[in-house]
Amino acid sequence: TYLKEQGFVVNPEYKVFSDIEEVITYCEEMASERHRFPYDIDGLVIKVNEFDLQQELGFTTKSPRWAISYKFPAEQVETVVEDIIIRVGRTGVLTPTAVLKAVSVAGSTVSRATLHNLDNIRDKDIRIGDYVLLHKAGDVIPEVVRGLPEKRTGEERLFEMPELCPECQSPVLREEGEAAYRCQSIICPAQQREGIIHYVSRDAMAIDGLGPAVVQQLLDAGLIKDAADLYSLTFDDLTPVERMGKKSAENLLRAIEDSKGRGLAPLIFALGIRHTGEKAGKILAQTFGSMEKLQEATLEELQGIPDVGPAMAESVVQFFSLESTGDFLVKLHAAGVNMTAGTSTKPQIFAGKSIVVTGSLERWERREIETIIEEYGGKAASSVSKKTAFVVAGEKAGSKLVKAQGLGVPILTEEEFEQMIKL
Ligand SMILES: [Zn+2]
Repeated sequence: TYLKEQGFVVNPEYKVFSDIEEVITYCEEMASERHRFPYDIDGLVIKVNEFDLQQELGFTTKSPRWAISYKFPAEQVETVVEDIIIRVGRTGVLTPTAVLKAVSVAGSTVSRATLHNLDNIRDKDIRIGDYVLLHKAGDVIPEVVRGLPEKRTGEERLFEMPELCPECQSPVLREEGEAAYRCQSIICPAQQREGIIHYVSRDAMAIDGLGPAVVQQLLDAGLIKDAADLYSLTFDDLTPVERMGKKSAENLLRAIEDSKGRGLAPLIFALGIRHTGEKAGKILAQTFGSMEKLQEATLEELQGIPDVGPAMAESVVQFFSLESTGDFLVKLHAAGVNMTAGTSTKPQIFAGKSIVVTGSLERWERREIETIIEEYGGKAASSVSKKTAFVVAGEKAGSKLVKAQGLGVPILTEEEFEQMIKL
């Protein structure tokens, strides 16, 4: 109220209450009215406004007891499971996925939801044709909460895992102690496709412009068999690809070329070794310094590294013992992919910082300045968020600049950026 009197803009929905019952009632009211706002809300903040009481309530180790947030229960909607299909992942795991009657939930239209595995389907007793309740886990990932068996008509069908991989017809097996069913073939086209999609993904080799549809077309045309073949693609290979203009073909070739210098840590992650995520890639890169050393690492050496668990140590050794791995790495090496840890001599002044470049620059090409940012330890991001450290804006900067201004993210000119890296 004081801030409002002083002319600050405050949310008109704020209210002062004199007892907790009123607060609870208000929370419930707002939960049912959350959609009348022109913006998304996920809860309310409740504060005790008397200083004496604040003192008395005090703090937990993390936060004050007199200021807490109340989260609304996740929105649930009803829909129908029209079918359950199988998706084959890059490690050969068959994931049952519900094809849903399209429905709007928490701000977007949803028509697919992962069902994780057969145990989950059985536990929740979900059948094809069932009515189900759907929500978004963490307000992001669509998830089936439970079935509504009381709405069954008798037409519903039980789902069974297929005995053969839907993509390569190899036998499917459930390994001891695992919930997952896996395609047993090592030359399964689905696994190869997913492996390439993983290789080019953002946190791996970050090859922009190579979406799943393009990967599929390149595979179908026989232009690539694995990710290493990407490095021998030519302009003429790419132009026949559907919806691939000259400009995008050029950009894609440049992105593929640039990925050679991505460094050891993302490359290790890109290989898609089981149990080995992005963080593990960094740890292994720091510990071994080169792909060659990592290939020679023994189980004992790996197990001796903090943060490397037994499952990961084993799968790393197993991965490098495969002949196909050796062949693949030889191909990458021949293509000129950097296989040693980053040897940037530049001071890491942007370490841990996310930096966005927008508008047209005079001094550098877009790729050049992004490389500079990375050499100095930063991350060149494509969109502005609260986490953006700063934005470098050139001529004709548009929506990203506006967004940065709105979020209060610092904005630098080219000159100012140049000053920073000269220091
Ligand atoms: Zn298969």
